[in-house]
Amino acid sequence: MPHTPLSRRSFIEATGALAATLTTTTASAASLQSTPAQLKGLPLPGGVRLPSTPPRRKRDDSVGIAIIGLGDYALNQIMPRIEQAERMHISALVSGNPDKLRQVGDAYGVPADARYSYADFDKIAADDRTQAVYVILPTAFHADFTLRAFAAGKHVLCEKPMALSSAECEAMIAASRRANRKLMIAYRCHFEPYNVEAMRLMRDKAVGTIRLIRTEQSYRAGQTTPAQNWRFNRALAGGGPLEDYGLYGLQSALYLSGEMPESISATSFQPKGDPRFTEIFAHVAAQLRFPSGAVAQLATSYDSAGANLSQVRGTDGTLILDPATGYAGQKMRIEGQNARDFTPGDPNTQFAGQLNHFANAIRDNSPILTPGEMGLRDIRLIEAIYASARTGRTVALAPDARMRG
Ligand code: NAD
Repeated sequence: MPHTPLSRRSFIEATGALAATLTTTTASAASLQSTPAQLKGLPLPGGVRLPSTPPRRKRDDSVGIAIIGLGDYALNQIMPRIEQAERMHISALVSGNPDKLRQVGDAYGVPADARYSYADFDKIAADDRTQAVYVILPTAFHADFTLRAFAAGKHVLCEKPMALSSAECEAMIAASRRANRKLMIAYRCHFEPYNVEAMRLMRDKAVGTIRLIRTEQSYRAGQTTPAQNWRFNRALAGGGPLEDYGLYGLQSALYLSGEMPESISATSFQPKGDPRFTEIFAHVAAQLRFPSGAVAQLATSYDSAGANLSQVRGTDGTLILDPATGYAGQKMRIEGQNARDFTPGDPNTQFAGQLNHFANAIRDNSPILTPGEMGLRDIRLIEAIYASARTGRTVALAPDARMRG
């Protein structure tokens, strides 16, 4: 594959008015208040266990990946498991906090000249030890770092949600095509044994014809404010629980039904006087109607007792995944005809599965199971959910999830 880095500026020019899209989030239509999004270099989170000896690279054709953003998910979930991926190793780190960068870089054996600040990240274009980046920053920065990475000639694995708006997602996809580099959205459940088995069971009609789907993703957040926690800050996170936790339910409804909704009706709630919800919604609920006549009901909340459920009711039985989409601990059963429990594998393998899939796609030029187009589709659906909640009307959708009319 030719290495043809473009300047960041030419990318942004080529991909249209990104600056304009940065101020237009999925939830902006809902008229939420917002404080501005600014990159921060936060200290090492408490409870992080760094490796006592740096992990070893396993294969000659291992993909070198730069981790952008050293927060909780990167440090506690992803980086310790990169060693479990056969064909990937950490080759660079990007952080806004020099002390953290040094501490984490030393522990993971990342050379000092492969540790970048946010500002000098673009220099990575000249670093041939790194072929790809993994963007693990708050959502507001996903599009910008993705464009900068493509401008530097790198492949991109980007955390969910893909971006704050469908316009940003479109710019990211266009940049990937121009750079001839891969763009993958980190939808780990597509590599998680229980959810993969559930997809297969639904394709094989294990509960008959699908009629009703229910998903619930919620937890009750402690006291916080948009200034203290980026997930409660609209400029950094969008509308709140839907983009973050509820996205798992939206994804599940699509991959379990195997259909795209033809219409959506939704409602949202933003309590007054609660410092947690001055900028985001406390909960969002949506009803998706599929061409087959099946209906999915999704609910997500940052202010109710914990739930992580996917349930598919068919003509012959019901599939229940509860918990459905965690890092571990999944439980799955079918009730009714063909009743049984399932233990298809260890959910912990989803992380290495996702990373190997990305590395293989780069090295073998194979297709990506969760590409940018899937992330764009989901952000369009989130925009439709907010549009329906705002107007109180059912929103009709085209097959590519664009709103009709
Ligand atoms: P976090 O708050 O723990 O870490 C965020 C990181 O971004 C920190 O290193 C921080 O220094 C940096 N940062 C830069 N500017 C910031 C700002 N203005 N405010 C706050 N932090 C800033 O977040 P996290 O839980 O690690 O989430 C990071 C990304 O990973 C998000 O996109 C999130 O949706 C995603 N995530 C995915 C999963 C999953 O299961 N796939 C789970 C958790 C998080």
